[in-house]
Amino acid sequence: MEFKKSPVEGDYKITSKVLGHGINGKVLECYCQKSGEKCALKILQDTPKARLEVELHCKASGGPHIVRVLNLYEKMHKEKKCIFVIMECLNGGELFNRIEARGDQAFTEREASEIVRDIGTAINFLHHLNIAHRDIKPENLLYTSEDNNATLKLTDFGFAKETIVHNCLQTPCYTPYYVAPEVLGPEKYDKSCDMWSLGVIMYILLCGFPPFYSNTGQAISPGMRQRIRLGQYDFSDPEWDEVSEEAKQIIADLLKTNPNERMTIQQFMNHPWISQSMVVPQTPLHTARNLTEEKELWDNVKEEMTSALATMRVDYEQVKIKELDLSNNPLLNKRRNKAVPSGAEGAHK
Ligand code: ADP
Repeated sequence: MEFKKSPVEGDYKITSKVLGHGINGKVLECYCQKSGEKCALKILQDTPKARLEVELHCKASGGPHIVRVLNLYEKMHKEKKCIFVIMECLNGGELFNRIEARGDQAFTEREASEIVRDIGTAINFLHHLNIAHRDIKPENLLYTSEDNNATLKLTDFGFAKETIVHNCLQTPCYTPYYVAPEVLGPEKYDKSCDMWSLGVIMYILLCGFPPFYSNTGQAISPGMRQRIRLGQYDFSDPEWDEVSEEAKQIIADLLKTNPNERMTIQQFMNHPWISQSMVVPQTPLHTARNLTEEKELWDNVKEEMTSALATMRVDYEQVKIKELDLSNNPLLNKRRNKAVPSGAEGAHK
């Protein structure tokens, strides 16, 4: 998508109504001058990080359950070079607010399955594009409208990352075919961050409280960090009594502490609890009631998830890729010792 240099005001009427606050500023309501369509405007300072966010969001835009980017502008704003991102407007509020608003009308296991399938569909699309979102959390999952047939969409590509590392492995001599996966880089660590998020969201959907929480009231306590690292959570009664074993097993596979063992998006989408959500039992859950009763703790829950994801991103950044020259992989060694016959470059495809 091209950046327009024409004035954004020519195409959109920008209002002062704030749709939400993010770390990078406000998201404002605006209207398309031509069609009258209500849209959302995110203003980002023009930095390489913002360029990356916009680039990856545009690549993903149009995918299922992903908020669409409609237009991009470059513009001076408050004496700074800025990027104006016009998106479709998600009017229906956050995922869990909507479930909480149901009050006594029970939310069922089948509905939970349909919601995680939708989130999984978005992740599946992104992971196939080799994009990890890395910030999947309740406030980034919004409904398109307030009506019953609204669609849930994923927003905010501020931490998205391309997972394919372009390095010397793409030279004809060492084609990725012959290289052990761990040499290829930490690709799966970034993707597994999204799968962990999916596990936490699925857990909350099924009971109304998170798997890990801080006992001290701090946003993320050392104890909580420890419980996340060790994978210490439980399926306590009465909330988990009636929940199917399949659902619990998926959560256990998504919250695996070792990212290498964590379920991949492919495995998740192929699981019958997801692929056949229409036959998942309609067991009434405690979710809506617990979300209502613990409303005042909800801001804390969100902060905790934000911090946990930040920690996880840092941890995964530290997973070092072995320098190719230092790698002692036997296959690589064999290939190193083998002189490449002239004219044979690119033959290993
Ligand atoms: P940041 O990257 O700065 O955290 P976000 O993209 O998450 O910003 O946006 C901040 C908030 O703005 C969101 O949590 C949400 O409440 C609101 N918001 C973002 N995008 C939209 C949208 N397309 N429609 C409606 N509200 C939005």
